[in-house]
Amino acid sequence: MSERDEGLYDALLHRGVSRRTFLQFSAAMAAALALPASFAPRIAAAVATAPRMPVIWLRGQDCAGETEAFLRSSDPSTSQLLIDLLSIEYHQTLMAPSGTSAEAARIATMEKYPDGYFAVVEGGIPTADGGTSCLIGGRPFADVVREVCGGALVTIAVGGCAVDGGIAGASGGPTGSVGVSRVASDAKIVNLPGCPVNVENLTATIVHYLTFKELPVTDSAGRPLFAYGNLVHNQCERRAHFEFGEYVTTWGDEAAQKGWCLYKMGCKGPEAYANCPTVKFSEGLSWPVKAGTGCIGCTMPGFWDAMSPFYRRLQSPIPFGLAPGINADQVGIALVGGIAAVTMVHGSATFVREQRNNALGRRRAGKATKAARAGRVDVVEAPAEIDEATVAIAAADLDAAAPEIPTTPPAAPEPDAAAPAPAMTAAPEIPTTPPAAPELPAAPEPDASAAPSGPAEPEVR
Ligand code: SF4
Repeated sequence: MSERDEGLYDALLHRGVSRRTFLQFSAAMAAALALPASFAPRIAAAVATAPRMPVIWLRGQDCAGETEAFLRSSDPSTSQLLIDLLSIEYHQTLMAPSGTSAEAARIATMEKYPDGYFAVVEGGIPTADGGTSCLIGGRPFADVVREVCGGALVTIAVGGCAVDGGIAGASGGPTGSVGVSRVASDAKIVNLPGCPVNVENLTATIVHYLTFKELPVTDSAGRPLFAYGNLVHNQCERRAHFEFGEYVTTWGDEAAQKGWCLYKMGCKGPEAYANCPTVKFSEGLSWPVKAGTGCIGCTMPGFWDAMSPFYRRLQSPIPFGLAPGINADQVGIALVGGIAAVTMVHGSATFVREQRNNALGRRRAGKATKAARAGRVDVVEAPAEIDEATVAIAAADLDAAAPEIPTTPPAAPEPDAAAPAPAMTAAPEIPTTPPAAPELPAAPEPDASAAPSGPAEPEVR
């Protein structure tokens, strides 16, 4: 029996991974997927019995950052377990064969597991000049991607380059680099951007598929919400310093040594969606802001262009689509000014409307008075005195018509002992997947500094 056929749990035991470690892994995956801890046993059961998934891992225009992230892990760990979770059938960097032998292995895998393998794509895909900037086995990489991803059970684009072309696809790039979804549009794709991808998110995505037989819920950019559903800024350990206006203004200053907010050093945490602050990298050891540098927004579409310069605040905030030359601080001032202006306009409009209504009322009253004086309006004279007998009859009629109001509440009906107990309604079925979250807009959250409720930024102490 091959390692792949013996199932994941047996393979793990085979490699000396203890049951305790495996259960910890399952609990960690439930947490990573933002599922209740009660899902951990289900994940453990699904993963333990799952066959090791065959994987064809393609690399195009890239720096091998995702491969490094995949391999660099302490043992045992979540990412180490990922290696046991998968059966890497083809990986240009890791496999022993090369040239035609390597390509023969890829084709053999596709034939052996039709619609039954994962495709992982790392790196951008050149499209200019017939895609000749990157050839695999003498063929344009784009053709290989189309072929492999088209026959895959699921395609996972790992890292920013595979998602949207990355640095090779940035402005001025000559190769016309694009992401997987532009080349293999018919494939079932999930995007895991980042530079590099966080391997914990890759593991959790695969575990989700093995457990629930479907990909996790994604946003409009194809990114799983469990990993890319929250702003970095809202999860950051330096957020309190942002709220109190405590900012680093020079690299290495006293504020930097105290771990204050890096917003003024160009941190893109307020514009970027990712779980870096909570999952972190290197087995949960750290992440860029914790290490003292700002977030560069590498999980956002086209971040090489959209988020640069990385060490300055954005000049043209994406959320507002304002004209170039307006920075985040100016947006804040503009918003406050705008609110004040709107308030003034509203007050002025209300004053004008009231004055106009008063004038209209006065004009109508004047017209009515003139009409009455001119005898054009019939004036109904009030009776000089009310007949007491008429009042008494009317009061009696009202009393007869009105229902009697009880002074005590009605007694509750005695329960009928002979009556059968009402049947219990069936409990609602617990969904096996997280509820679909509302689709996120492609554009990131407004710049936090622009929020009108935020405190004014005091001088850095
Ligand atoms: Fe953290 Fe950056 Fe937001 Fe400051 S601006 S709180 S460093 S994410």
